[in-house]
Amino acid sequence: MTDRVSDEPRSWRRELVDSMVDAAMLLSSDGRVLAVNGAARDLLSMPAGDGASGSRDSLTDPELLRAVAEVRRTAAPVTVDTSDGNRYLRASASMVSDETLLLISDRTQEKRVEELRRDFVVNASHELKTPVTSIQTLAEALTVVVHEQPERVPALVARLSDEAERLAALVHDLLDLRRLEERGPLEREPVDLAELARQVVGSQVGRAEAAGVEVWVEAPDHVLVAGVAGDLEVIVKNLVVNAIKYNQVGGTAQVRVRPRERDVELVVEDTGIGIPQPDLPRIFERFYRVDTARSRETGGTGLGLSIVRHAVEHHGGSIQVESCLGEGSTFTVRLPGERDLGDA
Ligand code: ADP
Repeated sequence: MTDRVSDEPRSWRRELVDSMVDAAMLLSSDGRVLAVNGAARDLLSMPAGDGASGSRDSLTDPELLRAVAEVRRTAAPVTVDTSDGNRYLRASASMVSDETLLLISDRTQEKRVEELRRDFVVNASHELKTPVTSIQTLAEALTVVVHEQPERVPALVARLSDEAERLAALVHDLLDLRRLEERGPLEREPVDLAELARQVVGSQVGRAEAAGVEVWVEAPDHVLVAGVAGDLEVIVKNLVVNAIKYNQVGGTAQVRVRPRERDVELVVEDTGIGIPQPDLPRIFERFYRVDTARSRETGGTGLGLSIVRHAVEHHGGSIQVESCLGEGSTFTVRLPGERDLGDA
């Protein structure tokens, strides 16, 4: 008789909890797990149930246990956050008759985005502080030097101008990154990547000559991709500028554009300083630099490649890098060809 009485509501509960889309579990007044659905098992890494009863399951997370105890004590709903180091969960506990219902949601992704944002603000403020402080110091020095040592003025003004340029580049890159991150679906149109590569390389000839690097493009007359011209220019320009900046006197930077069967390939290959293998997976992160001094010296912001990656991914493309220290690097970008516009 007792069995029958306890079995009936138990299966009813199980059905209710199973029918919920969100992770849910129901606990008895003495803390036993009466029912738990698949989503909750996944989130709490509980072994799959035998389908007969949840009684062999137990709740072990201390925060969740605390929530269950508190809701039972106060009868008011309680919300807690918990983590096993990998996953971040939020659970709300409430009383349903004399049992406790726990609803659990996975906040891992949200938490990662929050962390990324926080790191970004910290890093961006730090990066901005450097040129701003230099500009302040140089401006103060100028007000004194202009009267007492006027011969030093040109050198100070040149440094001031360099720092202002660095600040402008940083603000420009930060805005580019924000624009790429926050915008909706792309309005793509056919863009001639071969022509664009020739234009970009043409605009960097002065920089290449100053660095003693020879730069050229190998491409058919026209290669059409489905994209946003401004973004594609940002991609090519950042890669070409890096191929010149991280090169050596007498080195080369080669840009190749070629149509492939389903997409278009852009390769930027240099004979520069190369990138150590352990750094390769990190160079697309914001503000990551292999050699901070060299990046700063050459006006780098540490944002170029993360902007490139965002722009490429937004286009549904991919980017890969191969590099050999002291010998050079090759960045290969694949972008959807023009016919992708027709398919869409
Ligand atoms: P930066 O503004 O510092 O150039 P990027 O995001 O464009 O920032 O690049 C990140 C880092 O990757 C650079 O600081 C540099 O150390 C390395 N890097 C990028 N491109 C090259 C390249 N072609 N050759 C060698 N190192 C490179």
